[in-house]
Amino acid sequence: MRTALEQSDAEIYELIQQEEIRQSGVIRMIPSENYVSKAVMEATASCLTNKYAEGYPGKRYYEGQQVTDQVETLARERARHLFQADHANVQPYSGSIANMAAYSALMQPGETLMGMSLVHGGHLTHGWKVSATSKFFNSVPYPVNSDTSLLDFNIIEDIARKHRPQVIVCGATAYPRTIDFKTFAGIAAGVGAYLVADIAHIAGLVVGGVHPSPVPYADVVSTTTHKTLRGPRGGMLLCKEAHAKKVDRAVFPGLQGGPFMHTCSAIAVAMAEASRPEFADYAQQIVKNAKALANRLMELGFDLVTGGTDNHLILIDLRNRGIGGKPAAKALDRARLVTNYNTVPNDPAPPMNPSGVRLGTPALTSRGLKEPQAMRVAEFMARVLDNIDNEAVIEATGKDVAALCDEFPVPDHFMSLAEA
Ligand SMILES: *Cc1c(COP(=O)(O)O)cnc(C)c1O
Repeated sequence: MRTALEQSDAEIYELIQQEEIRQSGVIRMIPSENYVSKAVMEATASCLTNKYAEGYPGKRYYEGQQVTDQVETLARERARHLFQADHANVQPYSGSIANMAAYSALMQPGETLMGMSLVHGGHLTHGWKVSATSKFFNSVPYPVNSDTSLLDFNIIEDIARKHRPQVIVCGATAYPRTIDFKTFAGIAAGVGAYLVADIAHIAGLVVGGVHPSPVPYADVVSTTTHKTLRGPRGGMLLCKEAHAKKVDRAVFPGLQGGPFMHTCSAIAVAMAEASRPEFADYAQQIVKNAKALANRLMELGFDLVTGGTDNHLILIDLRNRGIGGKPAAKALDRARLVTNYNTVPNDPAPPMNPSGVRLGTPALTSRGLKEPQAMRVAEFMARVLDNIDNEAVIEATGKDVAALCDEFPVPDHFMSLAEA
């Protein structure tokens, strides 16, 4: 039987089928990506997309909220319990908007925001020069230590003392090590700054107990819901009761109109999934896989930023191999190994063709790969990168990767179309 989409729009139907096949037939290692459960997809694709629900449960601007109030309350309560936070807001459309809302809750335009430099691992929205966060706020970036590529609290404290920011944001998009939120909180307190912890990448690791939680230390915690947390695309804010009203007002009506109620319902589903013991096993396996992959890459002569990983993410510095990050990522993609090119700290090359490749294990762990397969993936990567000018070797490696994908099909409960 043809689906409604197939009947109504054969072109989009066909493209979605192709994407489903692509996602099954490659090893996905972009560290911000994952596979969500069918249950999360079902909620995302529900009639809740039809409903406007501006406001918050019990305080809406439109009628007909008998069901949506319950949905959002469930999502908020589950998030609160999962992260042991006083307050949760599940309405931000994405992690970027969640960050903007966190800042606008805690500071005025023109005040100083201190965040990790993008080229050292921070996110665009931590005050990078092309981001609106640097236009509305006075952005003061902090680097990592130029010898170790690690967060250096002496440097961070010096910059904080000098600039006395209103908000310090910690958290990263390309940092392979544990973040010490407690020390950040101490520095923030010492200069009278608020601390925002952005755990977009590591939220699932925090929930699974393999990364310390910032909730006891940060004024506001910001996250996406779709990376290691394995929910629908969205954003979320957690905070202490003292900031709850400001945070809620910053999201609506400060930055957004009607929340995506279908996404809120899927966040509720994902939070329930993340509270099960299997999710802690999943989070542990993400880190085990990342360490196995990283160690094998280093045995094969690759230079990893910080010399390894504590979390789900690996940053390869390719300068000792004489390959640019972009041609490397493109060759890997041709061999069904999907990563992204990325700057490394103090990269002499430009961001459009930087010296690094960034990868991670959340999606391949959802797929069921364990340490032995993570090591095989490292070997496939080395074969491609050692033969970057040899298309035959790249193609042959792609066949081996396809065989690994067949051996570890995406589990049925993660695929969106059963018949794909
Ligand atoms: C991904 C990410 C974001 C932004 O999330 P979007 O949902 O893409 O807007 C914010 N902060 C960090 C650290 C991230 O890694």
